[in-house]
Amino acid sequence: LPKEFQDALPILETIEAAGYEAYFVGGSVRDTLLGKPIHDVDIATSAFPAEIKSLFNKTVDTGIEHGTVMILDHGTGYETTTFRTESDYTDFRRPDSVSFVRSLSEDLKRRDFTVNALALTASGEVIDHFGGLDDLDNHVLRAVGEPSERFHEDALRMMRAVRFAAQLNFEIESNTQQAILDHAALLANISIERINVEFTKLLQAPAATYGILEMLKGHLNAYMSGLASSDIDLIGLAELEETAQPQDDAQAWTLLVFELGLTPDDAGIFLRNWKHSKDLIKTVQTSITLLNALRLGEVSDWELYQAGPAIQTALAVVALSELPIDGQALQVRYQALPIHSRAELAITGGDLAKNLQQKPGPLFGKILNQLEHEVVLKQIANLNSALVYRAIELMGKEKK
Ligand code: ATP
Ligand code: MG
Repeated sequence: LPKEFQDALPILETIEAAGYEAYFVGGSVRDTLLGKPIHDVDIATSAFPAEIKSLFNKTVDTGIEHGTVMILDHGTGYETTTFRTESDYTDFRRPDSVSFVRSLSEDLKRRDFTVNALALTASGEVIDHFGGLDDLDNHVLRAVGEPSERFHEDALRMMRAVRFAAQLNFEIESNTQQAILDHAALLANISIERINVEFTKLLQAPAATYGILEMLKGHLNAYMSGLASSDIDLIGLAELEETAQPQDDAQAWTLLVFELGLTPDDAGIFLRNWKHSKDLIKTVQTSITLLNALRLGEVSDWELYQAGPAIQTALAVVALSELPIDGQALQVRYQALPIHSRAELAITGGDLAKNLQQKPGPLFGKILNQLEHEVVLKQIANLNSALVYRAIELMGKEKK
């Protein structure tokens, strides 16, 4: 067993010693069997949340209404979820109710794909009720049970299918694939935030090209904001992803927006529809602005300065999309800028108030902007004395 599981063994043992069952489940079991590194270890147990809480000193109710309690142990958190079944999905998402049960097999039945429905015992034995081990060997992604039923229950699973296909480079089994095509429209019932999580993971997956093509084959994009139209070049994105694997969310979405040819303003609307954070939207818009400028020719030091930290994202996309641009040289130029933010300017509003003997107002902003420009463009040194002198000069001009 990998170290992450070894470390968690005392937790399984404590639960078992109290007379309950406990297993490792989910992605960590799947990834271990594939020989991949794992991040978080999930535990499923027959103990009810209150029973788990009474067995451990430190727990956090991370999702107690779904039966999930986090056990804190030597600085590591273990999500521990009571075996459960889900019933009556009247709106194609989330069950109307979850019932806690005492049987592992009921719990494994509600899981999405056979390779995600494996359990591992403390002694290292794999429990496989749905042929997940064979599917792992054969690199097949297959729904647990009847795929149509499973997608009716929770339409997000269709997005998860293409996401896992892309991450694992597994072929989607034909009945599962057909059910996606038949039920793509159910995705309209799923919140964009949940779709976003899966799609963002897909875009950064090793086999993203394959995942995007499967997504298109299943017509899932018809229910994805801004990606429905046939004019949209997702094939181009798929091709690009063949050689390019974005390394973070901002890179992934910049690459997408760049490939779609959106202006920074349209990118803003698109990304807001996808409910992205303000930070991500700003990074993408700034990167796109810089990329467009680069495509048209040389960019000025001022443009580089304005791109700020987003320049890293833009440069990553330059590399990924193999634009004929010398990213290295740009990086060097950026590093060599005298300052990288307004905060580094060697003069403050306070200095202006003191030296110009004026109350702060719009004029101060104007003068500071001008000084910032001149420092970035190396027209003046970033020294307090030089900047104060220049500020007085600019003030004189304003007064005229
Ligand atoms: P990752 O490595 O991305 O975390 P994962 O397989 O652990 O992959 P999670 O989203 O963390 O995926 O979910 C953990 C487990 O919970 C899954 O392996 C699966 O068994 C189950 N699961 C999660 N979401 C669903 C869902 N929508 N329907 C059915 N089962 C699900
Ligand atoms: Mg997980």
